[in-house]
Amino acid sequence: MKIVVLSGAGISAESGLPTFRGAGGLWNGVRAETLATPEAFADDPQRVLDFYNFRRAMVRDAEPNAAHRAVAALEQRHQVTVVTQNVDNLHERAGSTDVLHVHGEIMTARSSRTPSLKLAMQDRDIRLGDLAEDGAQLRPDVVWFGETVRHIDDSLDRIRAADRFLVVGTSLQVWPVADWVHHAVNAGERVIVAPELARCPDGFDWLRGNACEHVPRVAERWLDA
Ligand code: NAD
Repeated sequence: MKIVVLSGAGISAESGLPTFRGAGGLWNGVRAETLATPEAFADDPQRVLDFYNFRRAMVRDAEPNAAHRAVAALEQRHQVTVVTQNVDNLHERAGSTDVLHVHGEIMTARSSRTPSLKLAMQDRDIRLGDLAEDGAQLRPDVVWFGETVRHIDDSLDRIRAADRFLVVGTSLQVWPVADWVHHAVNAGERVIVAPELARCPDGFDWLRGNACEHVPRVAERWLDA
């Protein structure tokens, strides 16, 4: 069976990584999403680098949780693609092998002038004055609000072809990904795991609650299917 898992910040919340929206979505009293913009970086690069350096260190110290592991376990029997809005690497560290990071990856830096010039940071900080090969300041290799989302065609192809579709830990407030939930036209089952939702998308079973509670149960059932 072809399975697509569309994940957001909520799947990593129980690993200790704060989400942007909901409780804890603040950075020094500022809404986190206001720092995730090219304008914020132009205005105060040090502040934005501090925000991402702090988050990179948190990712380094976090461990994949039961939900990440359950998603990875689905590969024992199924063809699984994870389409994630997360910039952390917890899906890969849990064992998932096909992960599309549509909002980029926090463990990588890139030139602020040439997006394709990248550098693995592992757990190192990016400092003001750290330059890419082209002489431009390094910045996190993440997609900020207003920038182009990655792997759009690939993600939509996989979602359209999916036999089962699991959406987990996303507020469905960030476009275009929020719209992708409507493209799983061939899926025999569509499940969304979320503690709260403004509105459950049509055709989905909403499992109200946390990722670590519900995702292992769904995965177990799909492993038996
Ligand atoms: P979001 O912050 O908008 O929403 C997170 C959602 O997860 C909320 O609806 C919340 O109710 C839910 N949630 C909280 N705890 C949960 C749990 N234990 N189990 C299941 N769901 C839970 O996140 P988003 O929709 O992914 O979108 C926003 C942006 O946030 C993305 O661009 C993403 O790159 C960025 N982000 C990523 C990380 C990360 O990589 N871990 C962390 C914070 C923000």
